[in-house]
Amino acid sequence: MSELEIEYSTTGPSKGLDTISLLSSDDRLQGRPLLCSDCGLCDSALSPLMSKSCVFVRNQTQEIEQRLHGRNRRPDDELRFGIFRAQYAARMRRPNPKAQWSGIVTSLGARLLEQGKVDAVITTGAAPGTRFKAEPILARTPAEVLATAGNKPCLSPNLNLIDAVRDQGIKRLAFVGTSCQVHQLRAVEAELGLEKLYVIGIPCSDNVTYPDLEYFLTQISRSPKTVVHHEFMQDFSLWLRHEGGQVERVNYVDFPMDKLHGIFPSACLSCFDYPNTLSDLSVGYMGAELGWQWLLVRTQTGEELLETLRPDLEFTQLTESGDRSRGMPRYMERLTLPPGAKRPPFLIRKLVAHLQRKKGTKGLEFARAIIEMKLLRNLNYVRSKFARFESRVVPYHVYETLKPYADHYEQLFDRPLGTVTEEQ
Ligand SMILES: Cc1cc2nc3c(=O)[nH]c(=O)nc-3n(C[C@H](O)[C@H](O)[C@H](O)COP(=O)(O)OP(=O)(O)OC[C@H]3O[C@@H](n4cnc5c(N)ncnc54)[C@H](O)[C@@H]3O)c2cc1C
Ligand code: SF4
Ligand code: SF4
Repeated sequence: MSELEIEYSTTGPSKGLDTISLLSSDDRLQGRPLLCSDCGLCDSALSPLMSKSCVFVRNQTQEIEQRLHGRNRRPDDELRFGIFRAQYAARMRRPNPKAQWSGIVTSLGARLLEQGKVDAVITTGAAPGTRFKAEPILARTPAEVLATAGNKPCLSPNLNLIDAVRDQGIKRLAFVGTSCQVHQLRAVEAELGLEKLYVIGIPCSDNVTYPDLEYFLTQISRSPKTVVHHEFMQDFSLWLRHEGGQVERVNYVDFPMDKLHGIFPSACLSCFDYPNTLSDLSVGYMGAELGWQWLLVRTQTGEELLETLRPDLEFTQLTESGDRSRGMPRYMERLTLPPGAKRPPFLIRKLVAHLQRKKGTKGLEFARAIIEMKLLRNLNYVRSKFARFESRVVPYHVYETLKPYADHYEQLFDRPLGTVTEEQ
């Protein structure tokens, strides 16, 4: 028996990829740019600053990096991962079973409150009566933060709590959020009158609206209503944990892409910051081995965050294997196929899944591969749907990162990889 009375819609995605914008029929989004991830800023009193701060109006990664670090990215892993001082594979010594991974993010938020380093933490809980509908929370106690453990893997308007922060006179704040939220937060940071801001970033890609998350689960899982936790793992499969504790695994290659076409919002397909590069500390998993979390310490404040939790953490080596440069050309060729193409036959999919697990990239090389793939796919998406926006929404590091594939790109797509201005 399900502990919640969950009813998931099995009708198709809320829009098609070719229908521009997120929930384009939603009155709430009237007056926003064509691209919008519903980060919450436009619900706040700072909405007049939207045109100066929204990543989908003008991507300010380069300027924000200069402000935070006094420089831009070096031509090495920083191009893909963003500027960082140190990176680790770590996990909580005593994992929280309700957490998405071991609970580093919520434990850190709770610890900051316990030690009086912050007055509040902006985090994401679940709306009453649901497991996964995202609801931004301004947590004032450690227990309130810990109660938000676990992903609600859908768009969340976390920045709408800016007004409450200002109304309640909060001066020291920790913010947990996705990369688009963090970009906007950094852009308006000076307006908030804070004495201290800690930004804990979670990597994010291919997010969806809540109705489309419901639909996704009905298409992927044998029992969508009993899914209590799911994660896209580094072993090329989605793991779904059910109420009884059993784990269902679905290989990425087995996803019914013809039925999923259209679930990703245009904004998420025009997003170029998978690892949350403008945070103080990024906490994900994709650069670490299965079972471990991947931490990127970016700023001095990020170092302070790590030290705050260090006694509760255990560490292991970061590793890497495989060669992404072998898979990228094939991925680029797949991008030339029509969207939503049918899956290959079962035996071929089985073989591909086997080869991906056996010979595919692992550890840091997996993170490099998946970040590059998303940069390339999203660059092509912007070029095909929002060509006029390219110079404003595609940041500098995208072209630098993808340079090694430039010749193959030109052959396949019959245009140079670089920007028009670069070519002139
Ligand atoms: C939509 C989404 C996609 C992600 N994709 C990747 C990925 O591809 N690769 C990767 O390495 N990591 C990804 N992550 C991050 C990863 O899944 C974990 O959230 C992260 O590693 C923290 O794990 P934890 O156990 O420390 O978190 P917990 O202690 O369980 O805390 C989870 C935290 O996530 C926050 N959160 C939950 N849902 C949302 C939401 N919708 N919007 C904003 N914040 C939210 C909560 O505020 C909470 O503080 C993604 C997260 C989300 C929400
Ligand atoms: S992404 Fe945020 S800032 Fe940009 S238009 Fe949407 S709500 Fe406004
Ligand atoms: S994929 Fe990008 S735009 Fe979409 S929610 Fe995540 S960070 Fe925001």
